[in-house]
Amino acid sequence: MSIQPSSDLGWLSGSATEAAAKKMRQLKTEGKDVIDLTQGRPEPPDFPVPEGLKLGEKEAIRKNKSMYTPVAGIDELREVLAEQFSDELGVPYTKKEILVSSGGRVLLKLALQVLIDKHDGQDEVLYATPAWPAYTQLIKSLGGRPIPIKLKHPFKLKYEDIAHRLQDVRIACILLNTPNNPTGAIIDPEELEKIAKAIEERDRLGGMRKPVALILDWLYRDIVFNRSAKTIVSVNKSFQDRTIVIDGASKTYNATGLRICYAAGPRQLIEAMTKIQSLESGNANSRAQYGLLAALTKYKKETERELGIFWRRYKKRRDCAFKELSKSSRLEPLRPEGTFYIWVKIPVGFGMRYQADRQWVQALLEQKHVGVIAGDDFGCPGYIRLSLATSMKNVREGVRRIREFAEENQSPT
Ligand code: PLP
Repeated sequence: MSIQPSSDLGWLSGSATEAAAKKMRQLKTEGKDVIDLTQGRPEPPDFPVPEGLKLGEKEAIRKNKSMYTPVAGIDELREVLAEQFSDELGVPYTKKEILVSSGGRVLLKLALQVLIDKHDGQDEVLYATPAWPAYTQLIKSLGGRPIPIKLKHPFKLKYEDIAHRLQDVRIACILLNTPNNPTGAIIDPEELEKIAKAIEERDRLGGMRKPVALILDWLYRDIVFNRSAKTIVSVNKSFQDRTIVIDGASKTYNATGLRICYAAGPRQLIEAMTKIQSLESGNANSRAQYGLLAALTKYKKETERELGIFWRRYKKRRDCAFKELSKSSRLEPLRPEGTFYIWVKIPVGFGMRYQADRQWVQALLEQKHVGVIAGDDFGCPGYIRLSLATSMKNVREGVRRIREFAEENQSPT
């Protein structure tokens, strides 16, 4: 008899990146020269973990700092992070409002878990699409109702996009991601101001309406090209009381495998998240915590210098990919304002050789050995996402092959 997983797991689907990775591994074993532009994972040697973080980790290992730490993170680290959040958001935080966890997705899950009232499965979570694919599944897994707001080119969330939903009685929370994965778009501060005002107005109306909380997925905070990505807390300081801001080492410090991220939020929510964390995973990796602490204190200057180098590398890749993809009459790249992704409209659909972006992506991988992710996986068909967190050589050659593929596959079969 084979025992099946619980039927409650209807919301579960596989990761698109992992499916593509499997196919790429197979092509590599066949000796093909594969270029992987799928992964949201900064790759060494161009994007290594900063030296200070590594030294901090080594020191922690040498000093046997491998025991349990406080569940919410070591005090010194939470203090430094509270200072950092205070500086960046322009409102004061203390260490009691900080939680250190094993990655951004863990914090997203904890934040949603403390905000969604799941008894009747009617609590809504609003978020704009295209979006990181895990949002929908995470919300469903926690008994909430995902309410995707479909954005159109140029994919910058505006107040008007969500205005019609803002009076829904059961909105528990709005999840904002800026700079956005996959589009690289940043929400303009004027729009954040309007959204904040509308939420305040909703509170004034009261009635059966739930007070709306916000989760800010700010993992790409540092990778912005023209201006800093303002947050809803910095444009309306009173939003500190209802916003959980999630940031971390995964993207900023090229440390996706170290599993260390952090959140700032209202104390009662952070405490509830900490209690759940104590049951589920306990503290984040102790060595990674000491490493991050060292990068933010003892080796702060060196770390900042390295982050500057990474930023210039990202900008160079973004400029190169945008310029080269724009040369194709068949492709329409969106100029990213932040992140290390580029979002590109591709020729699929009626009268085209490929009807759907997934077919296009599969054919690109089979014919040109370049891996990218289909827009459908982010809730927005007709596009692809390229990750540029790799070598210049990979970016140039990958983009060249994508252009070539787009030109060669012009006409219907
Ligand atoms: N949020 C967004 C928008 C992401 O792109 C990712 C990872 O790609 C995450 C959250 C999860 O981050 P982590 O790898 O730290 O769990």
